[in-house]
Amino acid sequence: MTLPRIVIERCQHLARCTKEPDAITRPFASEAMRCAHDSVGEWMREAGMDVRRDNIGNLRGRFEGAGETTLMLGSHLDSVRDAGKYDGPLGVIVAIAAVQRLHDAGKRLPFAIDVLAFADEEGLRFGSTYLGSRAIAGTFDLADLDRTDAGGITMREAIRAFGGDPDRIDDDRWHGGPLLGYLEVHIEQGPTLEARGLPVGVVSGISGQNRYELDFKGQAGHAGTVPMDRRRDALVAASQFVLEVEAQARSHERLVATVGHLAVQPGATNVIPGEVTLSLDVRHADDAELHTASRKLLEIARQTAKDRAIALKIKQVSESSTVPCAPRLVSTLSAAVQDAGHPVVQLASGAGHDAVAMSALTDIGMLFVRCKGGISHNPAESVTTEDVAVAINVLSRCLELLAQQ
Ligand SMILES: [Zn+2]
Repeated sequence: MTLPRIVIERCQHLARCTKEPDAITRPFASEAMRCAHDSVGEWMREAGMDVRRDNIGNLRGRFEGAGETTLMLGSHLDSVRDAGKYDGPLGVIVAIAAVQRLHDAGKRLPFAIDVLAFADEEGLRFGSTYLGSRAIAGTFDLADLDRTDAGGITMREAIRAFGGDPDRIDDDRWHGGPLLGYLEVHIEQGPTLEARGLPVGVVSGISGQNRYELDFKGQAGHAGTVPMDRRRDALVAASQFVLEVEAQARSHERLVATVGHLAVQPGATNVIPGEVTLSLDVRHADDAELHTASRKLLEIARQTAKDRAIALKIKQVSESSTVPCAPRLVSTLSAAVQDAGHPVVQLASGAGHDAVAMSALTDIGMLFVRCKGGISHNPAESVTTEDVAVAINVLSRCLELLAQQ
């Protein structure tokens, strides 16, 4: 079997490691994750790596090199609920494939390669993201250990049950000397590569995102007796705002804005909505544009509320800036794409990745692989063997180019 075909089969194999029998659901520190580790660990060893699991639950494979420095490759093995086969695992398995090639050829590079299979990127079990990569980057928040899952189990207990020591998360931090950077292969999760007919793309940076919670407070009342001109309907104000969010995002290039959650109080058929709480998620690859757009959207919310005599409270949930990929790694990956015989396209990532957390530790670079229909976080996720072959070739070529630098 060819290496790209093996990669696809391995992604399919990992789909059997799941908490829910008819879906792919692989939470942090679960039996499903243990199942994934059994296979991935074996594949890492076959590729000539020493394998260990750290305290947070990352699986770490090391392929020694001739020099002092280390290049990190990786992605995550956890998933969302009812996930696809490729978001996360593809990056881990393509990295192992690139190392397998070196191992088969009896080659050592001037640097070691650490393949990192991160414990939790999606935050399904504890609602906190990048647990594995933050532990390695040294930015893990120890307060997270007290978080509980839906069954009331604390993260501390979950880590212990999985075989890690929650009191020694700090030991997971990178201590292995100078780093060349961190490279991650990931499905695009968007339609750009497919639309352009390209197998892979080089990521320029990961878009910043601002999240807010907005609370529109009007007055609840009887749906039959309060005349229309006397109402202060919080849902009508919120709805007007939702439409305006869409209109603003559609009229600004590369801006995306989403109201994904909306809670209506009291939420009864015969009561005028008195209060609506909604979420607002705003993303743009340019920080200045992101902040301008966010300010404008919040101003529109204030004006909409004011016009309808509705009280508005705005809470900032999170604000994160764009994380640029390192120019050195962007240009090396671009050269590798070109050497593999494909046009180079650079694109920003609208989704967050472990690379965001790793940027606190070292330079980051990412390669996106075309996925069918741009679909992700869905069982319909699909990649082709041909595109996987390109991804392996590009990553292998990138390692050669880095070895020459
Ligand atoms: Zn992912």
